Amino acid sequence: MANELILIVEDNDKNRKLARDLLQFKGYRVAEAETAEAGLALAAAQPPDLVLMDIHLPGMDGIEARKRLRADPATSAIPVVAFTASVMPQDRHQITAAGFDGFVSKPINIKEFLAAIEDKLAARGKAG
Ligand code: MN
Repeated sequence: MANELILIVEDNDKNRKLARDLLQFKGYRVAEAETAEAGLALAAAQPPDLVLMDIHLPGMDGIEARKRLRADPATSAIPVVAFTASVMPQDRHQITAAGFDGFVSKPINIKEFLAAIEDKLAARGKAG
């Protein structure tokens, strides 16, 4: 474990930096983007092991970005975890329907955050 590359797509500096610091502390490598467009370009250039994707982004939103990652054979198998403050059931339904592999909530709960990342990385390559 660890040393995996995680791409964080988040326009909020505080959230992005906290996520980065936690992941780096755990030994993960981190790539960062402030927009979905930049995140897709990074993912295409160097496919990460997992993407942590904000939903509300300037320009393209995280829902559309997730669909594009899934549509590209080079990135379709990468787990994408929604990084969201939204707890409304209809929003969660939309996120799940868009093909996200899980959620982590903002503000970050450190234990839950790291457990969710480890869990999704561990599940890679398994059936389903
Ligand atoms: Mn945002």
